[in-house]
Amino acid sequence: MIYLDNASTTRPCEAAVKAVMRTLTDDWGNPSSLHKAGLAAELLTVDARRNIAGALTAAPECIYFTSGATEANNTLIRGMWECSFKRRRKIVISDAEHPSVEEPVRFLEENCGAEVIRISPAKNGIFDADDFIMACDENTAFISAMLINNETGTILPIKKIFTAVKKLYPDIITHTDAVQGFLKHKFKAADLAADCLTISGHKIHAVKGAGVMYIKKGLSLKPLMQGGGQERGMRPGTESVPAIYAFGEAVKALKPTVETALSNAQLLNKNFRKKLQTLDFITINSPEEASPYIINFSVKNIRSEIMLHFLEAKEICVSSGSACATGSNKSNKPLTKLGVSPKNADEALRISLSRTTVPGDLEVLISALKEGYQNLQKKG
Ligand code: PMP
Repeated sequence: MIYLDNASTTRPCEAAVKAVMRTLTDDWGNPSSLHKAGLAAELLTVDARRNIAGALTAAPECIYFTSGATEANNTLIRGMWECSFKRRRKIVISDAEHPSVEEPVRFLEENCGAEVIRISPAKNGIFDADDFIMACDENTAFISAMLINNETGTILPIKKIFTAVKKLYPDIITHTDAVQGFLKHKFKAADLAADCLTISGHKIHAVKGAGVMYIKKGLSLKPLMQGGGQERGMRPGTESVPAIYAFGEAVKALKPTVETALSNAQLLNKNFRKKLQTLDFITINSPEEASPYIINFSVKNIRSEIMLHFLEAKEICVSSGSACATGSNKSNKPLTKLGVSPKNADEALRISLSRTTVPGDLEVLISALKEGYQNLQKKG
């Protein structure tokens, strides 16, 4: 199988698999228990916290584990609102956020009197930092914008936006969903001027069931749930030690090669784009400056799902758009918000690379796209 859907999830790396096995066979205790089985499990979470904090160049106390990025985003959005809404009721976000940011913000807009400003990109899909900065004022509670868009790989100028916003209005809380950037591009939480940040384990070759909220020291947010006080009260509930420990071990294993992996992805992306450009039935939707890990393109007159299943029959896995955007709200397809025409959005495929992608995978895809275009055109 050729797997080119790494923005949805990634194959667990060896270190992650080993980590899970250890928590299932040896250290399977509850980290809150006071006896030695509990302590052994707790030590694994301490290890994971340290590894992940190190990768963000943050203090371990700033790391809070959740069940994934969706829970982390929801908790942070609600937490940032709760601690500011009595004085400030405006929220600034990008118009291309993942549903786990867009939907909780929409809830605040529809039910809690939040005034939400959504920033759109220019026609070419590129966001202008000044649009975000100018939308903020002393009535703004928080700003949330993703580091890298999961549909097109568009990189948002987060550092520029947050640094300027913090300078002008130090009380505005800044949050970035860094899920598609973590361990793919090098960044430090503090360098981005982010007060809060979200990442997810299964996007970086760990396993499903663990995400992280980074919350800057000194910022006190209310949790979404009440319970047994785990994660210093920010996320009560028994921790998923298998997923948390695997997250930490994957980070430890992959962190030293972030730059090499990025150069590989750049090379793969460059060659793949060149080949796509020779095919007159393809329109590339991702901007040139996008993250090399994601390439979105449209196949003329063939709906996404039709081509997706043709490729699937040839053992090639791609996406017709974010798995999270293919649910009930199809009219809300994020691609059209990134400058892609509705017709091209209907014909769009997303491929997303990882450290396991090799040039041959993309060569096979190019041949399959040519064959698919010819066959499916005839049928149409
Ligand atoms: N944010 C972004 C940008 C994502 O791509 C995803 C996963 N599609 C999420 C949040 C949600 O992550 P999780 O699956 O860990 O809830």
